[in-house]
Amino acid sequence: METVVNILRNSWYILALIILFAIVLPSVIKLFKPRIKGFFGEKSITFFLSRLDSKKYKVINNLMINVNGSIAQIDHVVISNFGIFIIETKNYKGFITGNEYGDYWTQTIYKYKEKFYNPIKQNYGHIQAIKAILKEFQNIIYYPIVVFTMEADLKVTADTDVVYYTHLIETIKKYQKENISDVLRDKIYTYLNTQNITDKNSKKEHIKNIQEKKNDIENKIKSNICPKCGSWLVIRNGKYGIFKGCSNYPKCKFTINT
Ligand SMILES: [Zn+2]
Repeated sequence: METVVNILRNSWYILALIILFAIVLPSVIKLFKPRIKGFFGEKSITFFLSRLDSKKYKVINNLMINVNGSIAQIDHVVISNFGIFIIETKNYKGFITGNEYGDYWTQTIYKYKEKFYNPIKQNYGHIQAIKAILKEFQNIIYYPIVVFTMEADLKVTADTDVVYYTHLIETIKKYQKENISDVLRDKIYTYLNTQNITDKNSKKEHIKNIQEKKNDIENKIKSNICPKCGSWLVIRNGKYGIFKGCSNYPKCKFTINT
């Protein structure tokens, strides 16, 4: 009995520390969770890509290029002998539904739904931007890949690769048909690096523009104006319930769930 008392007397501060951490730590983690998650999502994809054989696969993270005055930001580009992989990463949680061709995908958490622009289409835009920059390099195969973290529950039907980041490497390695020589691969890698805007202010400006564009689209939809063509949006009754569609249909096919 005496020994127990002795131990407590000598190590009370350790106990106090343990109790303090048990109380304080969970709330600290909670506070930073979204930031830590986003950080880890992005960093771990960079980490996974760094494990590719660097002799065969050249990786550029966060490539920002200027094509005729408009800026494209591409999360990851992998230049290999098998083609160029254009990777778009998404940190969304919850059920993710969508397909190859729709303008928007849906994120569902409990009963809350949120629309976001189809990342396959977004990535298609990125490929066009890179193609424009690499116009002197013809006949190159481009592979778009959309990557989600494990936070997402993917219910997506698409021909384009839409995968969890844990499957990213095997998805890249699926493509083994040689299309680019070593010399050409290194030339493209060097050239893209010279085109990369690394200036911090330009990057900030670009992020601000994206946010403004997004707000603009949301405001238009709220005011029943089609963000694609400017016509009125009208309420329609479809197979899957009520939705808003463009009054300019079939010329404009914009729709959004209400
Ligand atoms: Zn329209």
